[in-house]
Amino acid sequence: MRLVVLGGGESGVGTAILGRKKGYDVFVSDFGKIKENYKKVLIDNGIDWEDEKHTEDLILNADVVMKSPGIPDKSPIVKKLVEKGISVISEIEFAAPFTKAVTIGVTGSNGKTTTTMLTYHLLKSGGLNIGLGGNIGKSFALQVAEDKYDSYILELSSFQLDGIVDYKPHIAIITNISPDHLDRYDYNYQNYIDSKMRITMNQTEDDYLIYDADDEAITAWLGNNKTNAKLIPFSLTKTFNEGAFIQNNKMEVKINQDEFLMETESIALEGKHNMKNAMAATSVAKLMQIRKATIRESLSNFQGVEHRLENVLKIQNVQYINDSKATNVNATFFALDSMNMPTVWIVGGVDKGNDYNELMSLVREKVKAIICLGVDNKKIIDAFGNVVDMMVEVTNMNDAVRMAQRLTEKGDAVLLSPACASFDLFESYEDRGNQFKQAVHNL
Ligand code: ADP
Repeated sequence: MRLVVLGGGESGVGTAILGRKKGYDVFVSDFGKIKENYKKVLIDNGIDWEDEKHTEDLILNADVVMKSPGIPDKSPIVKKLVEKGISVISEIEFAAPFTKAVTIGVTGSNGKTTTTMLTYHLLKSGGLNIGLGGNIGKSFALQVAEDKYDSYILELSSFQLDGIVDYKPHIAIITNISPDHLDRYDYNYQNYIDSKMRITMNQTEDDYLIYDADDEAITAWLGNNKTNAKLIPFSLTKTFNEGAFIQNNKMEVKINQDEFLMETESIALEGKHNMKNAMAATSVAKLMQIRKATIRESLSNFQGVEHRLENVLKIQNVQYINDSKATNVNATFFALDSMNMPTVWIVGGVDKGNDYNELMSLVREKVKAIICLGVDNKKIIDAFGNVVDMMVEVTNMNDAVRMAQRLTEKGDAVLLSPACASFDLFESYEDRGNQFKQAVHNL
């Protein structure tokens, strides 16, 4: 069997190694440049590869093709493969049949990484021999090749889910759905929703689907489509006989006739969105039979993930917060919502078709000044120009942070929550967040 791997990054190289181990004739092809460290791994494992081109003769003779998540379905080579009827799948689909381990899959538009990391923390603290993969860290396929774990928690993007055929997680989480990446879905929101909901399409009645019952896109989909999984809803506003909710300032998780209760203020993560993430993660922990004392302790000491509402420093009683990972309006909505002091808001970058209307009342209520940090700030200025007292445009992070300091007084906050992608001025959201933290430290 010939396995062709498109894309020589983390998931591609991991898949190649697993394929090789399982006896496939493997070829890796990347239209861009493969990083030196990955090239070395391929060479050390005797795997054929090419980069900066796709040689069709070496690709179109595949029995199966693993496509890395960054490659769009529209790319010419993928179109040719599909026309020839060759199966094009994702890393998860390729690797899952080679392990007996239980998998937990986490998808959604926002909160995947936070929920995945928190769940991992709960399960690992509970003594499970669990691996972490998908969009995070080390390739899932590579870990399957190394065969070290009894269970995995996988962060799954819609692109990973587009490439599944038979894969099913035993426990699926859908954190929420809001418009994102629509360029990859013909600018059709329903296509994107359907793609996220693929996480449950192969689940059976022995499996579980944990989902945000406050989310209109998810509940509408569940109303119109069928899943065989047992449903475990979570909500900030409703209560359930089976599910997770907030009541009297306590988080309650009721599953299998058992109940877990915890004061919300004892949960280390802050913000309403993080209560949702905590409910989802705790539901998994209950299903995996983690002890209540362990869950309680783990929820009280998990400090969150870098670049997600990360408290950087307090300088002269002004709190600086790095939420660089907020690359869409919905994520920024929850950031602003969780602010309980007057805020200087640093926003902007590459607009993904943003509709800023949803932020209007929060901005009116909480934001004292806006600093636009992007190449094209017109939409932000049009939206909020008449809403805040002060609006400034800057072109680099140092100026943004220095200007923010000038506009604050004791008791204020400075929040970097861009609601936009970072590629106009920065290499990535990590680079943007790191530059922010450096600039704050320089103050
Ligand atoms: P993802 O992996 O889905 O991008 P992250 O956990 O990295 O999610 O968080 C991305 C952004 O969304 C951050 O700004 C974070 O504060 C915010 N966020 C986290 N959880 C949620 C949630 N449940 N709903 C909305 N926004 C969230």
